[in-house]
Amino acid sequence: MSMISEILNKEDLNEEEIFSLLQTEDSDEVKLIYQKANEIRKVFCGDEVHLRGIIEFSNYCEQDCLYCGLRKNNLNLDRYRMSFDEIIQTAETIYGMGIQTIVLQSGEDFFFTGNMVADIISSIKSRFDVAITLSLGERSFEDYVLWKKSGADRYLLKHETASSKLYSTYHINQNLKDRVDHLYYLKSLGYQIGSGNIIGLPHQTIKDIAQDIILCRKLDLDMASFSPFIASPDTPYRKQKNADLNFTLKVMAVARIVLKNVHIPATTAIGTLDEYGREKALQAGANVIMPNFTPSPYREKYSIYPNKKCVKDNPLNCPACLENSINSLGRKMASGKGHSLKISASESLYR
Ligand code: SAH
Repeated sequence: MSMISEILNKEDLNEEEIFSLLQTEDSDEVKLIYQKANEIRKVFCGDEVHLRGIIEFSNYCEQDCLYCGLRKNNLNLDRYRMSFDEIIQTAETIYGMGIQTIVLQSGEDFFFTGNMVADIISSIKSRFDVAITLSLGERSFEDYVLWKKSGADRYLLKHETASSKLYSTYHINQNLKDRVDHLYYLKSLGYQIGSGNIIGLPHQTIKDIAQDIILCRKLDLDMASFSPFIASPDTPYRKQKNADLNFTLKVMAVARIVLKNVHIPATTAIGTLDEYGREKALQAGANVIMPNFTPSPYREKYSIYPNKKCVKDNPLNCPACLENSINSLGRKMASGKGHSLKISASESLYR
């Protein structure tokens, strides 16, 4: 038996073993990795694919992340904030299409005070039977408490990289310890937590990626996202190479093998890197898709990176189009809120 198949037969993998899986380029071995990822995905998640509808309600950002098109120092970006009514109307559209998770995402925009966000959360929760995921960057611990009380269910805050050195290279005035502290605090409040990395950033090595997967395991995440870096114009990294598609898929598969009962999205970024990137990701361990419902003219302006998948399409066509491609893979659309795989069936029924 090859070393790779021996590793794949173990339940818990150490750093060295994760590294070996990530670095193999042997096509037979890579095939075995995808087979195992699919087997594990099927055991823990079944064939169902969950949809989460995203509303990107503000592209203002206080941070200056070197890779991100929303960075404060990008003066070429036309900034917007959606109104309260526009946000609620978009939530209604998402719910009306049968999607029961709404992701509220923005840059780190303190114009939206804790109370304003709390109003948005409680208004959505009182009108529609949905789970709410917040993805608003690092906010105060008081805000997190208030939003949980207002009905938020989940918080998505990517660790981006588990290397504290790289973290400080990419993020001006931010550090990895704070990021991780926020994640633990959110978890202690009862949020289902999502985190994850960006693959293919400058200076990053395979060892760093292995560390990312290990940090995800340590955080005991409910959702883990592994998305490819896409060079964004108007950022210091505009001339850097995009992530490699096959390596990104391999990272997702290895993450599924290591993390097991976690939701893993087929990200918009992988769909942007390759026309069939999301379908390929669903066959490499992923079980979630997050279609974008931000209305025009805002959606074009939430340009974290360029040419975002489906940005020119009418979001009303999303569910039918996604259902087609999900079915063509022999999978099916999930119904319900699609809570964490780590909470019991009866508990998730009453959330
Ligand atoms: N401000 C919030 C969320 C918005 S940004 C936060 O900080 O959590 C959402 C995600 O986009 C980031 O977490 C990052 O992982 C991703 N992202 C930003 N720029 C990117 C790029 N150039 N390529 C790929 N992903 C990128």
